[in-house]
Amino acid sequence: MSQDIPTLNSEVTAIPTDKILGFQASIQGVDDLVFLTFGEPGFDAPKVVKEATIRGIQENHSHYGHSQGNPELRQAVIDYMQDRYGLTQYPSIDQVVITAGVSEAMYAIFKTLLSTGDGILVPDPAYGSYFSSIALANAQAIPVDTSTTGFKLTPELVAKTVAEATVPVKAVLFNYPSNPTGVTYSKEELAELAKAFEAAGVWVISDEIYSELTYGQEHHSIGEMIPDRAIVVNGLSKSHAMTGYRVGFILAPKAVAAELKKVHASLIYSIPTFVYDGALAALQMPKEDLQPMLSTYQVRRDMAVELLRSLDFDVLSPDGAFYIFAKLPEDIEEDGWTFAEKLAKDGKVGVIPGEAFSQFEGAKDYIRLSYAGDTEQLKEGLSRIKAYIEKRRAN
Ligand code: PLP
Repeated sequence: MSQDIPTLNSEVTAIPTDKILGFQASIQGVDDLVFLTFGEPGFDAPKVVKEATIRGIQENHSHYGHSQGNPELRQAVIDYMQDRYGLTQYPSIDQVVITAGVSEAMYAIFKTLLSTGDGILVPDPAYGSYFSSIALANAQAIPVDTSTTGFKLTPELVAKTVAEATVPVKAVLFNYPSNPTGVTYSKEELAELAKAFEAAGVWVISDEIYSELTYGQEHHSIGEMIPDRAIVVNGLSKSHAMTGYRVGFILAPKAVAAELKKVHASLIYSIPTFVYDGALAALQMPKEDLQPMLSTYQVRRDMAVELLRSLDFDVLSPDGAFYIFAKLPEDIEEDGWTFAEKLAKDGKVGVIPGEAFSQFEGAKDYIRLSYAGDTEQLKEGLSRIKAYIEKRRAN
């Protein structure tokens, strides 16, 4: 007898998962497409990381490790966060959990802090996977529309959304620099938000995976302001071009970390032990060694912003990460899905419709473009977008 397989469909996630998958499948088949879709750094992992990982394998780091992450690596996380961001509020290795990327960290945190039906505020637009991960944890995402506040969460929005919520609000999920908009927050803005979170009595889950990728603006962790309620999440996927290594880390108040490590252990036990070696080497790399990557992203950002603006896309120049959330020009009278599909088929460039990141109507006028990949591909993609738009305008 066959049984139905439950699917993580759009009814559950409220993000049109099926539509996104359908869109991705439809553009995958297009010949000679330039993909400006993925948040995948177009760089190899650093040499020291590769060497350390290989050494780890040769030295037989192939056995079960400490499930929370080996103590040396956890200490390196603490040192790294102190050195880079002055984050001294999580000084004990008992407060650190090493995870299989930020993705696993998020799910483990939701499972730890949220019970069935609990609400969690998510500033919207947001990284789409959050919504399915929250749904998997049986909690309820409460999207907060940030389209009228420059895509930033504000203390007023926090207070208003909490007051109007129909379910108990237990947490806020915060990501900056942001995927998909690239916006980030100043120290002063974070301090104001910290007060609002404190007043709302919520846990703050802060996804700072793009912290290393800011352009001219220093990154501050909200953990600095409210360490008793902030769970800081970071990882090596983006900053060190190590997406496939699957390394994330969590810094949390002691009591939270104690529960988190149990959830993490029952989910995956630990990441591969030889990856600990590579991760340690990455965390100990001098900041200057990552600078060429950052400078390249900044050049690409400027190039993409300039081109899109010249074509009348409405673009907020991103302060960080490697995405541009662009509003379609007024004369393109169609939604992001239709535009993205036509751009792929007729213009041979892949971008993602804004609604893949949002539950609000306004996002239908947007697309997200990634400049993570490769400079030559980006140049080619941008020149194709220009040619495509000019051709449409000429007809
Ligand atoms: N968080 C955000 C905001 C992201 O944009 C991404 C990837 O695009 C992730 C988390 C996933 O990170 P990881 O590779 O560490 O699982």
